[in-house]
Amino acid sequence: MTDVLNTVAALRAAVGAWRADGHRIALVPTMGALHEGHVRLVTTAQRLAQRVVVSIFVNPTQFAPHEDLARYPRDPEGDLAQLRAAGADAAFMPAADEMYAPGFATSIRVAGLSEDLCGAARPHHFGGVATVVAKLLNQAQADVALFGEKDYQQLLVVRRMAKDLDIATEIVGVPTVREPDGLALSSRNRYLTAAQRRIAPKLHRELAAVAADVVRGAAVAERLAAARALLASAGFDRVEYLELRDAASLAPCTSLGAAPARLLAAVHLGPVRLIDNVTVERSA
Ligand code: AMP
Repeated sequence: MTDVLNTVAALRAAVGAWRADGHRIALVPTMGALHEGHVRLVTTAQRLAQRVVVSIFVNPTQFAPHEDLARYPRDPEGDLAQLRAAGADAAFMPAADEMYAPGFATSIRVAGLSEDLCGAARPHHFGGVATVVAKLLNQAQADVALFGEKDYQQLLVVRRMAKDLDIATEIVGVPTVREPDGLALSSRNRYLTAAQRRIAPKLHRELAAVAADVVRGAAVAERLAAARALLASAGFDRVEYLELRDAASLAPCTSLGAAPARLLAAVHLGPVRLIDNVTVERSA
């Protein structure tokens, strides 16, 4: 049974009871409009803990005024049906004023990691994410919290924040779940027209091709420039960034060394900003 919890007090009571029974607890933070990618986080969580709580909260502070907070898809009934089918133990669905009481004044800034790639175009985004995730981790007091590699920069920002603030919850990354044609599942994909949906998988196809070429020794700067040009002519409206970075620090990589790298991109397609990333590393 999936209990619906709307207050921090109810969440704490549920978690306290599980803990008294000796159970390990996992937290899966989401913004709802759930899809198979979110469900994979839940099923992965079930292998790591006896109890899984999924938070559903469209966090206003990670959206800039011109962004899509009002349009962000919301489907609480559909979300609960998926969580019940997946066997999640609880859905934590707080209202905005439960999370941000009058007078709320604190924000967490993860310097460096938050500032380029997605953070360059969305300067307030990762501050909002880090702050709400810190709150959720404190509220749930889980042993482990799971985040998708789909939002790779977010995963690293959350890891850094939890380490820096001595939050004991272990942060676990889960590989990206994709459509059969390679498009990363995303709540916003529903806003693509049929024509845009046919263009969208070219992003992952090109990222995979670049990754393979770089592993085979292609010159990084030239290969990235060719990929940006290909995407721009493939029907995407704008290539915001396409970069090869160190997988741990996100520092720029001019060549592939021994350490794993990550190829990350953001592109615009009609009303949707698509992000994706793949690993780039020599096989052992
Ligand atoms: P969101 O609701 O989009 O904020 O995402 C909630 C969590 O689900 C985040 O940790 C995301 O990285 C993760 N997630 C979203 N899409 C996918 C996907 N296609 N595969 C794996 N995880 C995902």
